[in-house]
Amino acid sequence: MTNCKQLVIASATKQSRATIITGLLLPLKRDRNDKFYMTLDQLYTKFKNPLNQQQKKLVAEAFEFAKHAHEGQKRKSGEDYFEHVVQTGAILAEIGMRSRTVAAGLLHDVPEDTEITLEDIKAKFGEEIAKLVDGITKLGKFKLRGDKKEVQLENLRKIFMAMAEDIRVVIIKLADRLHNMRTLEALPPEKQQRIAKETMEIFAPIANRLGIGEIKGELEDLSFKFLEPKNYKTAKEILDREFTQRKKDVGVAIEELKKELGSHRIKVLEVHGRAKHVYRFFLKLKKHNMNVERVYDVVAVRIIVPEIPDCYEALGIVHTKFRPLVGRIKDYISLPKPNGYRSLHTTVFGPSGRIIEIQIRTPRMHNEAEFGIAAHWIYSSPKTWRDYFLRRYSPEEIPEQELFWVKQLREWQTETGQGDNEEDFLKSVKVDFFQNHIFAFTPKGDIINLPEGATPIDFSYAVHSEIGARTVGAKVDGKMVALDYKIHNGQVVEILTSKEMKLPNQDWLRIVRTTYAKSRIRQQLRRAEKAES
Ligand code: MN
Repeated sequence: MTNCKQLVIASATKQSRATIITGLLLPLKRDRNDKFYMTLDQLYTKFKNPLNQQQKKLVAEAFEFAKHAHEGQKRKSGEDYFEHVVQTGAILAEIGMRSRTVAAGLLHDVPEDTEITLEDIKAKFGEEIAKLVDGITKLGKFKLRGDKKEVQLENLRKIFMAMAEDIRVVIIKLADRLHNMRTLEALPPEKQQRIAKETMEIFAPIANRLGIGEIKGELEDLSFKFLEPKNYKTAKEILDREFTQRKKDVGVAIEELKKELGSHRIKVLEVHGRAKHVYRFFLKLKKHNMNVERVYDVVAVRIIVPEIPDCYEALGIVHTKFRPLVGRIKDYISLPKPNGYRSLHTTVFGPSGRIIEIQIRTPRMHNEAEFGIAAHWIYSSPKTWRDYFLRRYSPEEIPEQELFWVKQLREWQTETGQGDNEEDFLKSVKVDFFQNHIFAFTPKGDIINLPEGATPIDFSYAVHSEIGARTVGAKVDGKMVALDYKIHNGQVVEILTSKEMKLPNQDWLRIVRTTYAKSRIRQQLRRAEKAES
């Protein structure tokens, strides 16, 4: 029962770049088809980057350590507890995390569930891994019973704090939750419902916000299965049937595209078709009144080419071969989706006249679409989030606009305890985090990432808090707008400032949308008050 079907039709060239993506195209495997537990060697094969001797040694030590620590412990399903932590480690390796994060994943339940303490882990594995394990232990067990708001807010607060401290803690938590969801069957129905609901409401949106589409999709599907079993079954049946029907069409289209692209000397690294996740498919079906003919991307064809210019060239060639549908060409490369997703999309009339969606991207975009923030570990040497903030490496490695919200959270940490109503504050953090985001541009073309409904004041604070305080007006796409104007995705915002203006206006607190702007305005006003007295 895989929920992400895949037909890899062709791997056109066996270039070294192609090796980056083969394997990544496979859906996350469960390895639960037999009674044998995952071995260390199997775990090694899950890593996206080859491991050196030292890294292998670290993983092996964590593996053995966890095995001894959990010896004799069983899960509700009857499996050894150890299997849970190995699977957690395997998921982390599969999405591109490095040896230290995987080691922490193997050790994540040791302090909580065994006699062995965090001190023991620190002595054996050092500060960094101990801190990751501690972070997960502190996130603790989530309790989301009923509508207890305080409990929910407290949980969110914990997650945000952990995130601002080291994003890897949250990624490990997601892997842990994914494996728990895969084995949810073994728990009593009441618990299943609670955990599935929490996963749908908190963990899937977090995975989405971090851009880890692969984990988001599976978390949603597994939750959906427990929360709405009837709808799940219906959607799954329709999806399976459609997939089988369209598979042939798509196969023909892929062969023709391969030939066509090849004759234009475009190096095609991979062409494959992929079925939609069940939950997302169900939402689309509902949107189109259950008319499956209107869902064009039941199976999407993905074309992976080496560089960005190749993407555009390939798009042109696709259109000479298959006629595109009007208004369905989307350029998410020059204007990425709010969660950072990049690709070219087009919908065409395929070989037998049936409509097919085609996605064109580079290997890097592909990895980022599947693994989001985790993909950064595939491309850069392991670095902590702290390094990012201290700018200990080239800023190209992690685009800043993706991480603006992490910066906001960090600011908040230093701001807390200064009299803000905590509940209000958490609510707004929740808005910043979960709401849809837009991209706006400075006149120079820099991208600023903001939540939906953000105003020019939010924009100017996002650029720089000094500019924020000096704001007197704003132009959007060349036209003057009011300061409470709601910016739309893709607009160019120019902030007009005045040197005389040194302090923000108190009233701005009511119009800004971001927590960052709000806390900065408060801080500036407070400072001015202090200076006066
Ligand atoms: Mn666990």
